[in-house]
Amino acid sequence: MKNAEDVTFGGSGLNRAAAMRGTEKAKASTGDFIIFVWRGKILMDLDNEPTLAQFRFPHPLCKDADEVFLGCENDQNYIAFDISKWEPAEDDQPDPNVFFDPTQQRHPLLEEKYAFCELRGHMLNLTKREAELCSIAKGLLHWNKSQKYCSSCAGLLQTKLSGWQKNCSGCGATHFPRTDPVVIMLITKGDKVLLGRSPHWPEKMYSLLAGFVEPGETIEGAVRREVMEESGIKVGPVTYLASQPWVFPNSLMFGCHGTALTEAIEIDPNEIDDAKWISKSDLLDVFAGINQSILPARKGSIANFLLEKWLSDRLSD
Ligand SMILES: [Zn+2]
Repeated sequence: MKNAEDVTFGGSGLNRAAAMRGTEKAKASTGDFIIFVWRGKILMDLDNEPTLAQFRFPHPLCKDADEVFLGCENDQNYIAFDISKWEPAEDDQPDPNVFFDPTQQRHPLLEEKYAFCELRGHMLNLTKREAELCSIAKGLLHWNKSQKYCSSCAGLLQTKLSGWQKNCSGCGATHFPRTDPVVIMLITKGDKVLLGRSPHWPEKMYSLLAGFVEPGETIEGAVRREVMEESGIKVGPVTYLASQPWVFPNSLMFGCHGTALTEAIEIDPNEIDDAKWISKSDLLDVFAGINQSILPARKGSIANFLLEKWLSDRLSD
C-alpha cells in the first residue's frame, strides 16, 4: 500500500536521535518541548478542539518526575515526563475495568482546561507529530514502569540511555523496550469481508480478526493460523498492507489482506464471541450509519483504515 503511513500513528519522520540517548544533550533543558503522562494517560489541552498539551521546560510538574527522551528537532528536544506518582482525589480516579476509560484527571497545579485523558479518545485530534510523540511516550513509559527486575536473575534493573535501555545490577544483562507483533487481517471472499467480535467489546462492535504472532512464525503463517483458529476458515494468499504502532500497551499491528478459500464459519467460543461475512454494500451502509445492526471498528484503528480502503477499492493506493 503506497499510502500506508497515512494510518493514525503512522509516524511523522521524527528524528529519534538514538546517538544522543544517554548523553547530557538528551536531558531536558530550558526551552525543550515537554509532554506529561500519568499512568498511561496523556495530558491534553481540552480548550476548543482538544489537542496535545505541550509545555516548555522547565515546569513545576517536572520535579521528581521520570523523564524519557523522545527525539529532537533543530536544537529542541522532545521529552516526556511521567508524573504517575501523583495521586488524584478519591472521586477523580480512573476506571481500569472498562474497555475505554472515559474519566479525565485534572492536576491542581494546572489550569482547568488541561486533563489526563485516554489516548484512544483523542488520537484523531492529533497532528502526525503529536501522535508519534504520544505513541513513543506511552509505549516507552509503560515498558519502563513494567520492567523493574531482570527476567534472567530477578536483579534490580537500572535505567540507561535516557529510558531506552535497562541494565541488570545482578548479572549485567541488558534489556530493551519490547514490541509485540500482532497480525490483523482483512479476509475477503469475492465482495464479502470477514468480521468478528471479542467478548469484552462494546455491544454490536465488529472488527477484523487479529492475534499475536507466535515464536517461530511468519506474518503470513500467523494470519492463516489465527483465522483458522478463530473462525474455521482456510486462507490462501496473504499480502502485507500497512502497519500501525498500537501502544495499548505495546503492539505493532501488521495489517494484511488474505483471500479466503472456504466460507463456512465455525468460531472458537474461547477466542471470539461471533464472526460473520458482510457484503461490501451492507458494510457501506454500516459506515454511513444507515445500517446500525453492527458498529464498525473505531476510527483511528488500522481495522477501520483497511476497511475504508477496501470499501473504496483503494487497497493498492
Ligand atoms: Zn540479571
